[in-house]
Parts: sequence; C-alpha cells; structure tokens
Amino acid sequence: MNCLFCKIIAGEIPSTKVYEDELVLAFRDIAPQAPTHILVIPKTHIPSVDGITAENSAVVAHIFEVIPQIAAAEKLTNGYRVVSNCGADAGQTVQHLHFHILGGRELTLQMA
Ligand code: 5GP
Ligand code: ZN
Repeated sequence: MNCLFCKIIAGEIPSTKVYEDELVLAFRDIAPQAPTHILVIPKTHIPSVDGITAENSAVVAHIFEVIPQIAAAEKLTNGYRVVSNCGADAGQTVQHLHFHILGGRELTLQMA
C-alpha cells in the first residue's frame, strides 16, 4: 500500500521510535510544532478518525492507554495536547490515522 506511515511501520522509511508494541507505533514528528511532538499510530491501516468502527476501535482504546505512558516517559508533567486531524478542512496530510502528542511548552488555546 502506498501509505507513508505503513512504510514507517514496515521499516521502509526510517523514524525515531519512542514506543512500539504489537498494536501501535509512536515516533517523533519530522517537523515538530512543539518541543515534544510525537505521532502515535495503529499498525493496522485506518485512514482517519472517520474510519474508526466498532470492529477496529480496540486499537484506538489501546492508543489512549499508551499515550499517558509516553507522556510520562517524555516528562510532560505540566500537561500536553492530543490532536487528530480528520479530512481536508482539518489539514490532514497523511491518510493513516495518527494522534499528535504535543507538549514541552505552554500551548495556545486556539481551536482553528
Ligand atoms: P497531519 O497533518 O496529517 O495531521 O499530520 C501529519 C504529520 O506527519 C505532520 O505533522 C508531519 O510533519 C508528519 N510527517 C510527514 N512525513 C513524515 C515523515 O516522513 N516522518 C515523520 N516522522 N513525520 C512525518
Ligand atoms: Zn497506512
């Protein structure tokens, strides 16, 4: 499949991994928007939040169990933000479900 993040999972494109298990991979964003900027992705190809169903949502629950562990390992003790852009209006650029973890500085409260 011609998917950038599937290629990262397969090891065909290098990434700086911060966490991996049988279901998910987390790695540093190539263009960080904050001192800590990590992407957490399912190893199965789900295109976006729009592709989450009763059949595949267990991996999403797992991602949200892993996120606090990553935040703790990154010492984001003062807080952090979790973001998923879905579709064109949100500016989604990679069509493989991913959750941004942003932290390490005070983030603006801008929603759009
Ligand atoms: P989106 O804009 O779809 O919400 O987020 C995609 C993210 O993937 C962007 O923050 C972008 O910097 C990141 N990204 C794009 N290509 C690569 C890559 O090859 N490696 C890594 N580590 N991040 C990437
Ligand atoms: Zn993919």
